[in-house]
Amino acid sequence: MKPAEALRGILNRIDGRGYKAYKDLQGSYDVEGVEIHVDHVQGDPFAAPSRIRVRLPRETAGCPPELFSNRVRRLALEDVLARRVREAAGPASRQGRGTGKSGLIAIDAGAQEVLERTAVVVEPDFVEARLQVGLPAAGRRVLARQAERMLLADLPAVARRGLVHRNLPAEEIRRFVECVENQEHIRSRLDALGLVAFVGDGAVLPRETGASDRPLPNDQAVAFRSPPSLRVEIPLPNPEPGPRGLSGAATGMGVPAGVTLIAGGGYHGKSTLLRALERGVYPHVPGDGRERVVTRKDVVKIRAEDGRRVERVDISPFVGALPHGRSTEAFRTDDASGSTSQAANIVEALEMGASGLLLDEDTSATNFMVRDARMQALVRKAFEPITPFLDRVRELWETQRVSTILVMGGCGDYLDVADTVLMMREYLPQDATREGRQVARDLPSARRPETPAPLPPPVPRIPDPSSFDPSRGRKRVKIDAKGLEAILYGRDRIDLRDVEQLVDVSQTRAVGLAIQLAVERFFESGTTLREGVEAVDAFLDEKGLDVLDPFFRPGRHPGNLARPRPFEIAASVNRLRSLDIEQKR
Ligand code: ADP
Ligand code: MG
Repeated sequence: MKPAEALRGILNRIDGRGYKAYKDLQGSYDVEGVEIHVDHVQGDPFAAPSRIRVRLPRETAGCPPELFSNRVRRLALEDVLARRVREAAGPASRQGRGTGKSGLIAIDAGAQEVLERTAVVVEPDFVEARLQVGLPAAGRRVLARQAERMLLADLPAVARRGLVHRNLPAEEIRRFVECVENQEHIRSRLDALGLVAFVGDGAVLPRETGASDRPLPNDQAVAFRSPPSLRVEIPLPNPEPGPRGLSGAATGMGVPAGVTLIAGGGYHGKSTLLRALERGVYPHVPGDGRERVVTRKDVVKIRAEDGRRVERVDISPFVGALPHGRSTEAFRTDDASGSTSQAANIVEALEMGASGLLLDEDTSATNFMVRDARMQALVRKAFEPITPFLDRVRELWETQRVSTILVMGGCGDYLDVADTVLMMREYLPQDATREGRQVARDLPSARRPETPAPLPPPVPRIPDPSSFDPSRGRKRVKIDAKGLEAILYGRDRIDLRDVEQLVDVSQTRAVGLAIQLAVERFFESGTTLREGVEAVDAFLDEKGLDVLDPFFRPGRHPGNLARPRPFEIAASVNRLRSLDIEQKR
C-alpha cells in the first residue's frame, strides 16, 4: 500500500502525456484511511472504463455484524450498499468533461430484483466497492489535475458516503436486509406447505409501463387480495410494517402444487399475475410491490420461441414423427417452429430438474396447447404429430411431480385437468375451482385424450466440449453480453430474447463466462449438461462469483457480474448455434 503522495507524484509526472501513461497508476494507495486499488487502467478514453476498488477496513465502515450474519443477509447488504454507492457516485460522476468516458464513476448496482453480484463485497474485516472509472483525458492526453481530484477526493468521498454505516440511513438498510431475508424464508417454506408460489396480500403486481419494471403507482393499482379459501399465513423471521402495524407473519395466496389454471376475462390481470410469479424466483427490493411474491427457485417460464436452434432434444412426448416419417426423438433444427420450440423449452427445463412450469396463452403456440373435438374429427391423429400440452399437463404432475401454472382465458378444455382454478376479475383473484369442476361436468368436452405413449423421464444429454469455440479474431476467449438479450460467444451469437427469467444484463455477462467455466473445468467426457451446470453452480457457491472472470486472481475483480440460475445457463448452452450434444440413452 503506497501513500497518497505517491499517487500525486505519478500524476504530476504523467500530466499531458499520452493516455497509456495512466498505466503507471496501477497499484494500491491509502488515501486518508480509504484504500484505493487501481486494478486495471483502460487503454484509451473510449475503451471500457478503468477498474478501481475502494475499500474500507471494518472499523471505518462500522457496519453492525447482524446485518451480514448469514449468507442471505450478506448478499442483501452487498446489494443495498451497491445502490447507496451508486447514489453517492451520481453527483461525483462527471462524464462528458473530457473525451470518451472521462470523469465517469459508476457501479453495477441492481434494479428491482436483489441478486448476488460482484459490485460490493462485505467481509468480516473490510467492505469494498468495485467501480468503473473513466480516467480523464483531453483528446488522448492525461488530465492529471482532474484525475487527482477524482482519485484523491471524489472516490474517497463516494466510499465514505456509500459505505460508512454512520453516513447511511440505518433503519432503511436494516429493513432492506430483513425484507430480503423474509422473502427467502417464505421461499424455504413453500415446499413443506405444498405450494409452488405465494402472493402476499397488499402486493402490487402491475408495472408502470411495458418498458418500466417499476410499480404502477398506488392510486392506479389494485392491491392483491387473496381468496379466503387459498389464504395461508407464513410466520416471518423479521416482523415488518403492515397495514395494521408491525406484523410477524405474511398473509396471502398460496398457489398449490399441481395444475393451476389462471382464467378470467381479457384485460383482467392474468398475465400480470403470471409475470409477477415469473420474477418471484428472485427477491425484490422493498417498495417494488412484489416483495411478497415468492416462487420456488426452480420454476421455469415456458413459451414458444420460433427461430431458435434446438439440438438433439427428445420432443417426441409432445411432437411425434413429422411429415416424411422424420423422428423427433433427437430433434434438431436451426429454425424451430412455435410448437417445436415450445416442446423443446419444456423438455430442456425438465432435463434441468424444474419443479414447475409457467405458461401464458399469450406467448404459447395454439396448436401446442389444444386440439379440440372438431379438429380431432377433421384431422385424424395419424396426421397430427402434436400431443397437446392439455394431454400431458396432468401426467407431468402425477408421474414427475412437475407443477404447472397456466394462464388460459381462451380454452375451457383445460378445466378437465386443473386442480385449482383461479379466476381474475377486475385484477383480483377468486377461487373458481368448484365452479370450474361444475362447468366441466355440465358441459363435457367431446374431445378424446390423445397420448400415444406415457411421458418418459427426460433424457440426459452430454455436450461435446469441442463444439464450444469462444475465440474471435486473435483473441483466444472473447465473450460479451450484448445487452440483456444476447451473448456474443466467440463468433456465435446466443439469442436470449425469449429467455424471460434472465433479468439483469450482469447476469447475461455472467452466463457467458459460466459457459466458459463449464467448458474448461466441468464438461468432461461423459458429463451431462445438467451435471456440468450444477457443478458450476456449486463452484460459484463455494468460491464466489469473482471466479467467473477468466483473468481472475485475488485483487483483480470483475465488478459487473450478477448470479444467474442454472436454468438460464443451460438455456444459453441450448441456444448456442455451434453446440454438439449427444443423448445418454
Ligand atoms: P390479461 O392477461 O388478463 O388480458 P393483463 O395482465 O395483461 O390482462 O393486464 C391488463 C392491463 O391491466 C395491463 O395494462 C396491466 O398493467 C393492468 N393491470 C394488471 N393488474 C392490475 C392491477 N392489479 N391494478 C391495476 N392495473 C392492473
Ligand atoms: Mg394476457
